[in-house]
Amino acid sequence: MPELPDVEVFRRYCQSTSLHQMITDVKVYSERILDGITEEGLRKYLRGHKFQSTDRHGKYLFLDVSGKGWLGLHFGMTGTIKYSKNDHEIPDYTRALYDFEEDCHLAFIMPRKLGSIFTAGQIQDFVEKKELGPDVFKEDFDEKTFLVLISNRRGMIKSQLMNQKLISGIGNVYSDEILFQAKIHPRKKLMKLSEEEKRRIYKTMKEVLDTAIEQQADPDQFPTSYLTPHRNKEGTCPRCGRGLDKIKVSGRTSYFCPFCQG
Ligand SMILES: [Zn+2]
Repeated sequence: MPELPDVEVFRRYCQSTSLHQMITDVKVYSERILDGITEEGLRKYLRGHKFQSTDRHGKYLFLDVSGKGWLGLHFGMTGTIKYSKNDHEIPDYTRALYDFEEDCHLAFIMPRKLGSIFTAGQIQDFVEKKELGPDVFKEDFDEKTFLVLISNRRGMIKSQLMNQKLISGIGNVYSDEILFQAKIHPRKKLMKLSEEEKRRIYKTMKEVLDTAIEQQADPDQFPTSYLTPHRNKEGTCPRCGRGLDKIKVSGRTSYFCPFCQG
């Protein structure tokens, strides 16, 4: 599932390909992905306008529609985007296609129809309506913010890292990676974490997400010390070489090393 680093890579991709071009049409191939707007409404919202800038909050990507507000995209379990010029082959699983002048197109692709397209006047209003927690990369998100957020909370650390109402953007894969790098067991209770461990999680969280973005959120390019490329049945720990364990945490399959993560 696209998490913060993946969506940040999509944001940079849109930023470098899709801004400042007149939108001439919008085609929706699956109305199910429209959230709170019809195909006709979306077309009216976008046609004759340009995307002026991009933003992101957690796993949501936003495109600033000149003079209107924001177009929001959520990538569900498998979504991605593709920009093309002079190419009339529509990629498989395209759910929506934005046409720009000069035969350019941005396809919103989703093998499983769990993502969404919506509009928002202000990003902050959307964040409040969805009760989303702060994004890890927003300027005011520092160590103190993190320590306050997780203080006096119950539950397991992995569940809380994935809790979008607490912190926005981290899902199953990156919570595993963060806890592996911080050498903390995914089921460890928040109440049982020492101050030093909490600070280590904060620092590791920033480092892991930063590294993933730098590597285009492509696990094949991650440092050899990373867990993510080993998240499979035969996976072994890149630190000690022993087999990884698999457990369920909040309904999600978590991979971890029982020897390295105490
Ligand atoms: Zn290990």
